[in-house]
Amino acid sequence: MEKTKTLDKLNVGRVIEHVPLNEYTTYRVGGIARALVIVDDKETLKKLIRFLEEKKMKWKILGNGSNLIFQDGFYDGILISLSNLNQIEINDTFITVEAGYPLPKLAMKAAKSSLTGLEFAAGIPGTVGGALFMNAGAYKSDMGYVVKEVTFLDDNLEEKVFTNRECDFHYRTSYFKKHPKCICLSTTISLKHGMKEAILAVMEDRRKRRVESQPLEYPSAGSVFRNPEGDYAGRLIESLGYKGKMFGGAMVSEKHANFIINKNHATASDIIRLIHDIQKRVKKEYGIDLKLEQEIVE
Ligand SMILES: Cc1cc2nc3c(=O)[nH]c(=O)nc-3n(C[C@H](O)[C@H](O)[C@H](O)COP(=O)(O)OP(=O)(O)OC[C@H]3O[C@@H](n4cnc5c(N)ncnc54)[C@H](O)[C@@H]3O)c2cc1C
Repeated sequence: MEKTKTLDKLNVGRVIEHVPLNEYTTYRVGGIARALVIVDDKETLKKLIRFLEEKKMKWKILGNGSNLIFQDGFYDGILISLSNLNQIEINDTFITVEAGYPLPKLAMKAAKSSLTGLEFAAGIPGTVGGALFMNAGAYKSDMGYVVKEVTFLDDNLEEKVFTNRECDFHYRTSYFKKHPKCICLSTTISLKHGMKEAILAVMEDRRKRRVESQPLEYPSAGSVFRNPEGDYAGRLIESLGYKGKMFGGAMVSEKHANFIINKNHATASDIIRLIHDIQKRVKKEYGIDLKLEQEIVE
């Protein structure tokens, strides 16, 4: 509590104490976090991290919480929101956008500016920062296809710019995922001129496909597992009869077996038990180690 009080005095942004994590994650589960700080800008972000590192306090950047599973107990750390880092600038076919900007809004902005390349991102409910970290993607495209460069703070809080190649984007991973103390601040995206109506039509078509094939009517965090080489996690899970299987309030979606949904007041532990059960069965029946795409926050 003492430590959190000093956070207020630091003047780095809005401090919210004892944050119910179910309000900040798309799974709508998790316990209470010590505090959430919505930093004002880049400078206050640096000041905050310096302070937290000095005090040896745990911290984590929170985007839209759409890929995270916080445990049910107390998260004894400080969550940091970059939602005030939300500037965007369009220059011909280049968009420079800050990390706190919502990804679907960015995709829509690109479409309305007759720029093609970000159609895949329209249905991914994260922030730009979370998308860079994860190399979010869909429909055979991902951030790695469109990012020109990323500006970030390294673990010494020095500002650096990485080219696309240096970001080391691969299937649902990046340099940033491998270096979780780095903080993405902004990115420049390189797109192509296109026809606004055609771009919007592609986005609408994919929206419909998502509504048909994904359980968007329930809280979830998207795909649970990465697809193993040459196969689909959903196919393997479905083949073992998991659709509709429930642990507590968590259920394997009947629409898509690679989605776990919060069907009825699930806890994080319901979801995690279901994840482990699926991993054990898939290993036993197919000898395949299903890797988690979502992150269980320690
Ligand atoms: C219905 C639904 C559909 C989905 N569909 C897809 C899909 O098609 N494709 C896909 O790839 N994902 C999908 N997802 C998952 C999720 O939306 C993406 O992984 C998204 O990129 C996560 O962004 P976020 O801002 O919510 O990050 P969070 O979940 O808040 O955080 C994820 C990780 O990123 C880190 N992070 C966040 N911001 C930064 C930053 N600025 N710098 C450094 N690290 C940072 C966090 O610390 C955390 O470790 C879906 C999720 C849902 C709920």
